[in-house]
Amino acid sequence: MRIDIITIFPEMFDGAFNHSIVKRAQQKGHVEIHLHQLRDYSTNKHNNIDDAPFAGGAGMVMMIEPVALCIEKLKSEREYDEVIYTSPDGVLLNQKVANNISMLKNIIILCGHYKGIDERIREHYITSEISIGNYVLSGGELAAAVITDAVIRLIPGVLNDETSALSDSFQDDLVSPPVYTRPAEFNGWKVPDILLSGNEKLINQWKHEQSVLRTRERRPEMLGE
Ligand code: SAH
Repeated sequence: MRIDIITIFPEMFDGAFNHSIVKRAQQKGHVEIHLHQLRDYSTNKHNNIDDAPFAGGAGMVMMIEPVALCIEKLKSEREYDEVIYTSPDGVLLNQKVANNISMLKNIIILCGHYKGIDERIREHYITSEISIGNYVLSGGELAAAVITDAVIRLIPGVLNDETSALSDSFQDDLVSPPVYTRPAEFNGWKVPDILLSGNEKLINQWKHEQSVLRTRERRPEMLGE
């Protein structure tokens, strides 16, 4: 998979992409991430990429030309399955959305700033808009990093244990059961006996029951309740 991210703050991704699973996925060749500085596509000598909104109002708006130039250049080099805009009014990111994206070959993610981007970009270039929650961030970079991380760990081969992503929360419309590690007792707080029983069948049954219980308690809407 190839992910092209258009941003005015490429440095913001240093932490998110150069550690842990996302780093290893790139090293192992499962994913290529390319960051594009939008200012390099500015059409004026001050490298501006924003301007005041028509009809006034607070804040600046990302201009159409630099974004269009950057997207056109990328599209001239390869076919893209989706051109995603990070936007608070987009489709809410969830595991299903991440699963669907993880099956694509090439995607572009455009990070907005200021008051957002010129609406004509959304109309003519953007094929999908994703929000990471009902709150407003200062820019699309954190959202793009969240989307990228959630997607990459779903690409087959990225996680060492193939079943690991499959047993995560939301993967089968249930949240995860609780997990424990050594010691079996701390301060008198004990690990559930069943987990020490060695009986795989009963353990799996317990895990499933716990998942259903937790889902009912914490995410009843997932069970249609
Ligand atoms: N005026 C806009 C908010 C702009 S915030 C509005 O009220 O909808 C600046 C940029 O941050 C946006 O263009 C978008 O790219 C990004 N952003 C902000 N909140 C986001 C969210 N919840 N999910 C995804 N991207 C978000």
